[in-house]
Amino acid sequence: MNCSFQIRNLKKSIRETALNAGRDPEKIRLVIVTKTVAPVVIREAYDAGERDFGENRVQEWQEKKEALPSDVLWHLIGHLQTNKVKTVIGKVGLIHSLDRPSLVAEIEKQARAKGVKEVPCLLQVNMSREETKSGCAPEEITAVLEAIAAAPSIRLKGLMTIGPLTVDEGKIRDCFRKTRELFESLKNDHSGHAWEILSMGMSADYKIAIEEGANMLRIGSLVFPREKV
Ligand SMILES: *Cc1c(COP(=O)(O)O)cnc(C)c1O
Repeated sequence: MNCSFQIRNLKKSIRETALNAGRDPEKIRLVIVTKTVAPVVIREAYDAGERDFGENRVQEWQEKKEALPSDVLWHLIGHLQTNKVKTVIGKVGLIHSLDRPSLVAEIEKQARAKGVKEVPCLLQVNMSREETKSGCAPEEITAVLEAIAAAPSIRLKGLMTIGPLTVDEGKIRDCFRKTRELFESLKNDHSGHAWEILSMGMSADYKIAIEEGANMLRIGSLVFPREKV
């Protein structure tokens, strides 16, 4: 089945959830996560009008980028190794996984070397404190922000978090709510940055994320149910 059917259903659900939560559906952006999905299948989503695609591995992204039109806006959503920065700089639309001062410094260095003026990024926070996750702990944010202050190429646009891996809706909601509160307080205290994007919510928890204020969703398996290669 062509994935445009799933995309339509998903968008309808996003719309309904937003309206029920008293939010404007137009202000919620969908990033379709295409990791492990073959380029021909991604192309179906592209032909259905989608342009925001998310990948979590640099090498996989590079191969797909070549196979898809150049107006795709790629979101790098996975952990970014410092030695991969030079490969992605200036080529991805948004890095969701900025989480440590050493990564900030490397992005700045490579941006200068390549003459890339702006590198849009989100600060990834590990709000659920799951050890397997990347993202900085809330108490480490200050150090990352200080590094960003010395990195004029970085355009900090907001926050990203991954909800806890649990079926306990209360825990997921709590994580998203805390991230939203952090987002609001950062907006107040660090007004030099844009703080316009709050990236949270995946296939299993996007409705809760919408209810708690997410304005960017990263969704894969709902769109590509059994199309994995
Ligand atoms: C895989 C992934 C997603 C999408 O997850 P689904 O459950 O397939 O919707 C979102 N964000 C990140 C960081 C991911 O790695």
